[in-house]
Amino acid sequence: MLLKSTLKYLNYVIYKYLNNIYKTLTFSIIFSSLIIYLNLINNNRVMIMCLVNILMVLLIILNNFIYYKLFDNVTRLFNRDYFLSKLKGLSITKRKVAVTVISISQFSQINTLLGYKTGDDLLRYISIRITRVLGMKICISRLYSDKFGIILVDVKNKGEVELILNRLLDKLKEPYYINGVKLELFFNIGCALNDTINDYTELLLRAETSCTNSKKYGFDYINFFDNISYNLPTSTYNLNKDFKNALLNKEFFLVYQPIYNIKNQKIESVEVLLRWLHPTLGVLNPVHFIDLAEQTGIIVPLGNWLIKEACKFQKLVKEIADINLTICINLSYKQISNRDFVNSVKKILNNENVSGEHLNFEITETVSMQNPERLVLTMKQLEDSGIKMSIDDFGSGYSSFKYLLQFKASTLKVDKLFVDNLNSEFGKIIFEEIITLGKKLNMKIVAEGVESGEQFKMIKNTDCDYVQGYFISKPITSQELIDYLIEIKENQKY
Ligand code: C2E
Ligand code: CA
Ligand code: CA
Repeated sequence: MLLKSTLKYLNYVIYKYLNNIYKTLTFSIIFSSLIIYLNLINNNRVMIMCLVNILMVLLIILNNFIYYKLFDNVTRLFNRDYFLSKLKGLSITKRKVAVTVISISQFSQINTLLGYKTGDDLLRYISIRITRVLGMKICISRLYSDKFGIILVDVKNKGEVELILNRLLDKLKEPYYINGVKLELFFNIGCALNDTINDYTELLLRAETSCTNSKKYGFDYINFFDNISYNLPTSTYNLNKDFKNALLNKEFFLVYQPIYNIKNQKIESVEVLLRWLHPTLGVLNPVHFIDLAEQTGIIVPLGNWLIKEACKFQKLVKEIADINLTICINLSYKQISNRDFVNSVKKILNNENVSGEHLNFEITETVSMQNPERLVLTMKQLEDSGIKMSIDDFGSGYSSFKYLLQFKASTLKVDKLFVDNLNSEFGKIIFEEIITLGKKLNMKIVAEGVESGEQFKMIKNTDCDYVQGYFISKPITSQELIDYLIEIKENQKY
């Protein structure tokens, strides 16, 4: 009686909690159970065989169950849960640990352009390379999507970790040949050591944030967590909570970065950049909250507020300094895909009495890739209002040239990456060729992230039209910009 009810319960549990893959195995158990039940009294041999059968099947199920609990089924690396439990275990031992997060820069584009199968194959190739370089003993995990996590234990110092990660990066940078396609990838890498903290979730958060922020320094940069420059929120959850009220509490403000015209030595346009004055954390840059703004949908009202403020500022500069500035505004994918976007912009221009020709919308490749058809349509409607477009961060993405075909823009903003490489022979050639290409397409060219006089001189000798960067000015407040504009109007500096 006890055996009968145990078997019944076992079958129930298996049916309730395990999915389709186990249906065949479950059937085997039920079948064996039935035989046991029927032969319970008169045939011990059959009963033993059936019990062995049940045991084996249960072991297979258990094995698979553990596998799915521990491993990622695409790469067969450990999954995030296991990774976290391993970190938790290590935080008790007080050993010196370095947590690294690696992400593939153009993974979503690869999925979109080459299909999810290629994306999965690529993840497998990458996981094999990581395992080959670091060895089987290291805890390597696919955390989610294109993010890999690595735990290095008993590391001596940052220098040692840097050496290991550079060795790994060299291997990861070698081309991938998948389904007849050659892929050359860029990576974002963030790393955090448990020097100052022992909280394992915080350690992973630091590595993940460093990985996201590594984009600021260009590709293939190993960004180590640094306490001073970050001053980051301890939890994304808190930031999320605070963010919802930030617009209502008027915590956002704008800074402006001048764009200098090399040919006539004037400032004719400025890029407007968002800042969030967080009540406890101080001023946060967009890298910390733009994703959040997109996820929560706040980017739409926030973007409209920004356009309105930018129009007000345009009028103010005209009034005070008698300069008709063009204001360059970064657009997010969520704004463009909002059906009401064009109407809202027109309404703002109308209410503020500003002509569309004083606005220039900057679109990055990531934005254009999400919904190219919608973008082309939106652009057409905006063009009708006199608004111009810029291609932002050109050359930093995976399919920059496809992006040139997709839509007609008035300006090409060459990514800082190329400005940083101007002093190398190849870097200079590439920079000049991008300018030639842009010119042939009838575009104005802006060199972004110009930081030194040396870079400025080199760019001046090319056909580039504008420069933007710390050498001209860091992003500054509206008042500072007005003072600056008046100053250079009176005394041309460069
Ligand atoms: P971006 O469009 O490439 O903006 C230029 C970024 O480069 C700004 O960072 C600016 O401070 C920084 N920068 C300018 N010159 C230099 C330089 O010489 N050296 C270095 N190292 N950096 C320089 P910021 O303000 O942190 O903005 C980062 C990104 O956030 C922007 O990159 C843009 O993509 C996004 N963003 C900023 N404001 C907005 C916004 O209002 N809406 C949306 N959707 N995105 C925004
Ligand atoms: Ca921009
Ligand atoms: Ca840019």
